[in-house]
This record gives sequence, structure tokens and C-alpha cells, in this order.
Amino acid sequence: MSEGESNEVALVTGGSRGIGLAIAEALADAGAVVAVIGRNEAAAVAAAEGLPGTGHAGWACDVADSEAVNRTVKEVEKTLGPISILVNNAGVTRDNILLRLKDEDWDAVMEVNLRGAFNMTRAVTRGMMKRRDGVILNITSVVGLTGNAGQSNYAASKAGLIGLTKSVARELASRGVRCNAIAPGYIETDMTGALDEQQTEALMSRIPLGRLGAPEDIAGVARFLAGPSARYITGQVITVDGGMVI
Ligand code: NDP
Repeated sequence: MSEGESNEVALVTGGSRGIGLAIAEALADAGAVVAVIGRNEAAAVAAAEGLPGTGHAGWACDVADSEAVNRTVKEVEKTLGPISILVNNAGVTRDNILLRLKDEDWDAVMEVNLRGAFNMTRAVTRGMMKRRDGVILNITSVVGLTGNAGQSNYAASKAGLIGLTKSVARELASRGVRCNAIAPGYIETDMTGALDEQQTEALMSRIPLGRLGAPEDIAGVARFLAGPSARYITGQVITVDGGMVI
């Protein structure tokens, strides 16, 4: 992506709010035309309409549903043009201690966080390989590196996403496609919800830079990784967490 003057098409899953919306804004600001994907169509369409620049559009699609993903990617490409940037950002949590985790809690998190990224990646890469041009960004998590008590399903899905990132990077490098991951720390969004004073203090004591993260902290790194300044970077996991994991 040539910063400021790109006409590339970027697809951002979970782009209707939180980190995904900030990434969609940053890519649109850099000149990309953005396809915003979420399960809620009205929210995806509204988010797309609010992005800087013109031509953006929103679609309803559950990333866990491979047929819906294939169909949506085709529609996006027919409407906006070939996708050259994919951001696998959609993610969910179903937290519980191991002994209380139900099969459906395990499956739901794996289906969206890991299979969803696989579904999307598989759907866009044929075109990227043919054009020898593409960037894939996976939004993992620091807990995919460290693990987290009470999040074994989520942490496993995010660790799996790191394995997917490194494998795709190795497999597609010779075809002109780069694949990297961003591992956010604690970012204030709907997913993390409101913390009470005590929880905030406990968390802050673990963050050397002394504040919670904002979606824009992730978006800036995504814009860099999607752009030409990162052309020699692939297969990496960039931790963006205020120093939580050093
Ligand atoms: P939010 O819960 O604020 O937003 C999630 C987004 O994903 C929404 O746009 C939602 O839209 C979409 N989404 C959820 N499930 C699906 C699905 N099955 N198919 C398509 N879209 C879906 O999350 P955050 O912005 O906080 O998180 C974004 C990513 O960053 C996630 O992968 C998360 O795991 C990761 N992350 C977040 C951290 C944080 O502290 N917030 C820390 C580390 C990683 P809709 O509901 O309409 O489907």
C-alpha cells in the first residue's frame, strides 16, 4: 500500500467496531477502499459509511461459515475489485476456568478466531498469488504467547493463529504475499468492557508504559505492516501491549 495514495482494496473482518474499526479507518485514511465485515449487517454498513474517503462498503458474514466467506469474498471483489489486504480481526471470547469450559465454549472460540481466519485466508489467497501481491494481517493476542488462566480456549485459538501466520508466510512468500500478526495487550473495547477502579489499578501495575491501550495503538501498526515500509517483513508477530510482555 502506497501510503496516502493507494487504491487498494482491504477487507477487515470485525471492522464494525473496536480494533477492527480503527484498522479500517487507518487503512481508509491511507487511501484504501475498505470492505467491512461483521455478523451485523447494519453495523458493518454504518461503519463503512463513516470511513474517510469514498467507495467503502459493508457486508454481513460469519467468518466461521466457510461457504458464506467464499460467497462474500466473491461479492466484495465483484463490487470493489481484487482484495490485496486482508485483516483477520474478528474474534470472540467465552472465558471460564478449564473445568467449567463447555464443548460449545471451546468450539465457538476456535470456529471464529482460528477457523474464521483460515476460511478468509484461503478465500483471498488464490487471487493474491495470481497477482503476486497481497498482505495478510492476523490479530492474535499476547495471551497466545503467554497463556492466561481462565482463557484456555481463547489463548489456544490465538496461539493457533500465530502458527497459521508463520505457515502462510512461509508458503506464500515466493508468490509475493506477506503474512504477519499483531499481538495486542489490553485494549479498551466492547470485548474488554468497563473495569472497576481496583481492576484498572491491578492491570496498570503490569503495563510499563502506564496506560491501557486504545484501538488506534493497534491501527497504526496495522497500517505500517500493510504498507510498503514493511515490504521486507513477513512471518512476524508484533506485540503491541505497552510493555506488558517483555
Ligand atoms: P469487539 O468485541 O469490540 O469487536 C469484535 C468485532 O468482530 C465486531 O465487529 C464483531 O461484529 C466482529 N465479529 C465477531 N464475531 C464475528 C464472526 N463470527 N464473523 C464476523 N465478524 C465477527 O473486539 P475487539 O475490537 O476488542 O477485538 C478485535 C480483535 O482483537 C479480536 O480478534 C480480539 O481477540 C483481539 N484482541 C483484543 C484485545 C483487547 O484487549 N480488546 C486484546 C488482544 C487481542 P458483529 O458482532 O457484528 O459480528
